[in-house]
Amino acid sequence: MKDIKGFLKFKREAAAYRPVCERVLDYREVSVLRKDEQSKTQGARCMDCGTPFCHWGCPVGNYIPEWNDLMSRGHWERAFQLLDATNNFPEITGRICPAPCEYSCVLGINDDPVTIREDELAIIEHAFKTGLIRPRKPALRTQKNAAVIGSGPAGLACAAQLNKAGHRVTVFERDERIGGILRYGIPDFKLEKWVIDRRVDLLKKEGIRFVVGVDVGGDIKAKQLLKDFDAVCLAGGSRVPRDLNIEGRGLKNIYFAMDYLRQAKSMDARGKRVVVIGGGDTGADCVGVAHRQAASCVIQIEILPKPSECRTEDYSWPKYPLILKTTTSHEEGGERKWSILTKKFIGQNGSVKGLACAQVEFSQNAAICPAMKELPGTGFEVEADMVILAMGFTQPEHKGLLDDLGLEFDPKGNVRTDQNFATSVRGIFAAGDMRRGQSLIVWAISEGRGAAASIDKYLMGSTSLPLT
Ligand SMILES: Cc1cc2nc3c(=O)[nH]c(=O)nc-3n(C[C@H](O)[C@H](O)[C@H](O)COP(=O)(O)OP(=O)(O)OC[C@H]3O[C@@H](n4cnc5c(N)ncnc54)[C@H](O)[C@@H]3O)c2cc1C
Ligand code: SF4
Repeated sequence: MKDIKGFLKFKREAAAYRPVCERVLDYREVSVLRKDEQSKTQGARCMDCGTPFCHWGCPVGNYIPEWNDLMSRGHWERAFQLLDATNNFPEITGRICPAPCEYSCVLGINDDPVTIREDELAIIEHAFKTGLIRPRKPALRTQKNAAVIGSGPAGLACAAQLNKAGHRVTVFERDERIGGILRYGIPDFKLEKWVIDRRVDLLKKEGIRFVVGVDVGGDIKAKQLLKDFDAVCLAGGSRVPRDLNIEGRGLKNIYFAMDYLRQAKSMDARGKRVVVIGGGDTGADCVGVAHRQAASCVIQIEILPKPSECRTEDYSWPKYPLILKTTTSHEEGGERKWSILTKKFIGQNGSVKGLACAQVEFSQNAAICPAMKELPGTGFEVEADMVILAMGFTQPEHKGLLDDLGLEFDPKGNVRTDQNFATSVRGIFAAGDMRRGQSLIVWAISEGRGAAASIDKYLMGSTSLPLT
């Protein structure tokens, strides 16, 4: 370690963001990249724990204490090599992962945790800046053909790993551009799209073939896919949105979050009173876009109660806690309300003009899940010219490819696999949100890597790819 007392000497310096008054006027990334010297100091806070719980908390099993130490001592190349060994896209997780590792950092028990996410970003951006990252083609090709359906983080991680193992990999993507939710859901102010392009460019140079604008199941039939490829990884995400089928749902200016995030130009919130239903991260992204479109006011409502601001007994260290999260979009303005039930949409001349709501509470004594009760006499109305439904996603689309392949689903409607990511149809594997339901980028990467190892073993009889 560079300094055994680093954690006593240096305080955590959290991520820096551009001033709110400046950033709401554009869509550029809100966070500011740290200077290398500052990263080295922050890395020196890591205690190199005997049992590093950060490693336990990280879905891709990043070698966190090791690369923190290397970075703090200025050994950037070695730090990069270790980071690269477990995470295909640290420039993405380093920007927008909610960092479960930091919630399980040992230093977090009685002090602020190590800035693991920013340290990761510092290492990978240093590596790009100094030319440490170059396309690496596999030394040998196996002559096996693998198809990956979907180019979100799960599909890209799977393709990258299969390519490393020497297979000929084709990624099929229905959209015109690569990236899945990274490109078409997550706004630029969290992740500028050149970050994806830079990585995809490398993957192309390493030999991966990308076919865009092709719906597998529609443009290419399932039977053809099975004929043309030795193995297939399904990484199509989980995109069926949860709807709110109450009175007035058919009114104009009520949109699903993904449609709003994708087509913000034709769904302009300028001068409008916007209500976002759903208190999660997707809702927060919609709040940020509405601010940038100069909405006259933005309210985000959530049916669940306001989470605690710090850990509770149910979420004690080192678990990933359900606590109140205030995103950069929330810092930019607007109002948040909890325990609110939306009972109907109120319309005028066919367009939404408001919501009829009531306060609810959840009783904790129910055996399986808490029962919701509307509180009498708490009814109220909220004015709205635009409503965005951001209540999550229920399952992947079954119609088309999944049904044509005759796959089995789990009780939630996700693609059922065994522990090796193998579906009920031989030679077909699944990874990411399509298998586990809507989750996180880091989980998608972890699953893509795991599925690639299983596919490699299926094709070759054994594998040297890591399991996550
Ligand atoms: C608005 C929003 C913001 C988010 N923000 C964060 C965040 O800040 N941090 C975080 O960790 N997670 C975040 N998430 C979650 C994260 O983005 C997802 O968990 C992750 O993208 C899942 O990756 P995936 O590869 O499984 O699927 P996706 O990213 O959904 O990609 C699936 C791809 O498959 C393609 N596809 C589907 N079917 C076919 C077909 N038949 N033929 C061809 N192509 C097909 C789709 O077009 C899509 O491009 C966010 C999610 C949303 C919705
Ligand atoms: S738990 Fe925290 S302090 Fe300990 S090794 Fe991991 S990052 Fe360092």
